[in-house]
Amino acid sequence: MPERTNRIGRHLRTSGGLGKTLESARELGCETAQIFVSNPQGWAVPAPRADAEVFVEGSHELGLLPVIAHAKYLVNLSSPHSDLRERSIEALARELVTAGALGVDLVVVHSGSHGGDGEEKGMDRLVEGLERARELAGGFAGSSGQVAEPIVENSVGAGTQLCSTFDALGDVVRRAGMRVCVDTAHTFVAGYDLSTPDAARLVAAELRATVGQEIALLHLNDARNELGSHRDGHSKIGEGQVPVECWPELFAGLPGVPVVMETPYDGSDSDAEEVRLVKELAGGLLVSPGGV
Ligand SMILES: [Zn+2]
Ligand SMILES: [Zn+2]
Repeated sequence: MPERTNRIGRHLRTSGGLGKTLESARELGCETAQIFVSNPQGWAVPAPRADAEVFVEGSHELGLLPVIAHAKYLVNLSSPHSDLRERSIEALARELVTAGALGVDLVVVHSGSHGGDGEEKGMDRLVEGLERARELAGGFAGSSGQVAEPIVENSVGAGTQLCSTFDALGDVVRRAGMRVCVDTAHTFVAGYDLSTPDAARLVAAELRATVGQEIALLHLNDARNELGSHRDGHSKIGEGQVPVECWPELFAGLPGVPVVMETPYDGSDSDAEEVRLVKELAGGLLVSPGGV
């Protein structure tokens, strides 16, 4: 019997405490999970959490792997404004350290917007910002501290956003020596067709050809908006623009890549049902213990 190689989970709330987050992970059948380690809409530095140890131990016991954090939405390492860039570098560095202390493996960061200065300049700034944030995080953490690995997510390509193409993600991989996160809703509205199984197979092949083994994470979201619309919006799997029969093609092309949904919350029964559905679409309820 073929075994599923993609580990499946979703973004989870932390508002009730990290113990509650773990409870949800268990209830929903998550094998991996994503959280925010600070308010994503504000600049406040993440505070050390009293329940950090509970989370480190609990996520290990539950076998959540990898554990992921999503960085603040305000971070823009590509901005033409140097004050915003500096603020973003420091904020990302703080998040890498806070996440590290929670045993988080990966921190997803958006590539940002060049603000009219052009993609080339924006990409230079992004690469430099990522390098500086990692360096700064190492300093903040000190010799004993853990620092999570930052990974860059593809955008929908609205306005002057960078990294809406696989080629641009490939540039980040080569130039910054980083791995990436691919969001399927962003991919679709950025112009990559996932509306038939054949099209989805081609998208997976193109992704592998451009980014290769450096895909650290798949954000599995159905797209609320049309192909090429450059408008973000996530739907539950099967309720948006991507027919469910397309997803197995994408999973088949991306063996072993962990999968996290960022779809709207709909109560624990419905969310558990969605996790179960995605496990089946990815090859079955049982995950291969050794990965691939
Ligand atoms: Zn994101
Ligand atoms: Zn995403």
